[in-house]
Amino acid sequence: MQDQTLAIHAGYEKDAQGTMAVPIYQSTAYEFRDTEHAANLFSLKELGNIYTRLMNPTTDVFEKRFASLEGAVAGIGTASGMSAIFYAIANVAEAGDNILVAKQVYGGTTTLTGHTIKRFGIETRYFDVNNPSEIEALIDEKSKLILFESITNPSVDVPDFEAIVAIANKHNILTCVDNTVATPIFCKPIALGCDIVVHSASKYTTGQGLAIGGILLERENLVEKIKDNSRYSHFNEPDESYHGLVYSDLPLPLFTLRVRLALLRDLGAAPSPFNSWLYIQGLETLALRMRQHSDSALAIATFLENHPKVKKVNYPGLESNKNYTLAQKYLPKGQSGLLSFEVEDMLTAKAIADKTEIFKLVVNIGDSKSIITHPASTTHQQLSKQELIEAGVPEGLVRLSVGIEDTNDLIEDLRKALEA
Ligand SMILES: *Cc1c(COP(=O)(O)O)cnc(C)c1O
Repeated sequence: MQDQTLAIHAGYEKDAQGTMAVPIYQSTAYEFRDTEHAANLFSLKELGNIYTRLMNPTTDVFEKRFASLEGAVAGIGTASGMSAIFYAIANVAEAGDNILVAKQVYGGTTTLTGHTIKRFGIETRYFDVNNPSEIEALIDEKSKLILFESITNPSVDVPDFEAIVAIANKHNILTCVDNTVATPIFCKPIALGCDIVVHSASKYTTGQGLAIGGILLERENLVEKIKDNSRYSHFNEPDESYHGLVYSDLPLPLFTLRVRLALLRDLGAAPSPFNSWLYIQGLETLALRMRQHSDSALAIATFLENHPKVKKVNYPGLESNKNYTLAQKYLPKGQSGLLSFEVEDMLTAKAIADKTEIFKLVVNIGDSKSIITHPASTTHQQLSKQELIEAGVPEGLVRLSVGIEDTNDLIEDLRKALEA
């Protein structure tokens, strides 16, 4: 089935009432049939609902529907994109381990990997996403994950998936792709050979800037890469916190299962059922919206490229872009709604962001409403000058998240702000 059909039907059959819309199961807990049923659920002899920190029927539809769009075998909803990324890392790495992360990632991912997990004893080694050959020299026996974005936020680079996957597979390391900006409508990392996909559902998934959430998904047969792999011994040895369960022995998607049984259990960044319901509404129109976001972004990028005040436009759909060939290969149907452009200096960038009217000054992306951001003074403010350059965020950089308003109105808004 095609994306547009899956987005509307996957993961839900009418319930006992014949309810057409997915109901919001707003409940903390679930009644067991008897004590044996309860014991079976806790020991995984039967699968079923226990407590909403671990699972919820509305969230379950969201997870199944998103998994079908990504071509994943299973997904697990989380309270935010950041918690999905943290769980992907915490599910593989412990003190003494290291992970390999693209320099060009979301600001929160930079601070998480460069500062927060460092305090837990996990080292991050950064590579230039535009130069995957740097990765191999960073790998040792303690390397647990290669993390990168399918369209980087905010530098809008496109990685060479094949090159990165080849290195990861040669060394039996898991890959994790943050597919937030591209969305499964334009890019399916699992079909490109990647192992884990994470999303901030706060962006294009809700589509209207309605709720913070995330999801983590795994490909089919991930057990083949993890079974007896010494990098992932904790999946192959008894989990003392779960009565000696060995994850790689179970006939279940093991990566998301361990997130559920260990990390959600103990850290608890679970989505609320109401928010999961909002993501389900968002997914229904995702394919339609993404086409509009992408068409408008290309038209705006072309306008900006021809404007004398603009030094440089970063949009992988432009033929002049350094990633154009990679974008045509990996994102042939569209390159999403995120673009950035560079003007002379910080002052000029801020003046433009202050003058647009339709483009609102907001730190978000993926909303149906257009957004303008000055990353160096906001989302990337905590980064040092050196970190800013490495993340591809010069001080004169302006980021646009192109919404789904009329394209010509958006261009006029930018023209006025540039020429005021
Ligand atoms: C926003 C974003 C995140 C973080 O997601 P939250 O839902 O805000 O926690 C992670 N990665 C990318 C690419 C993002 O744009």
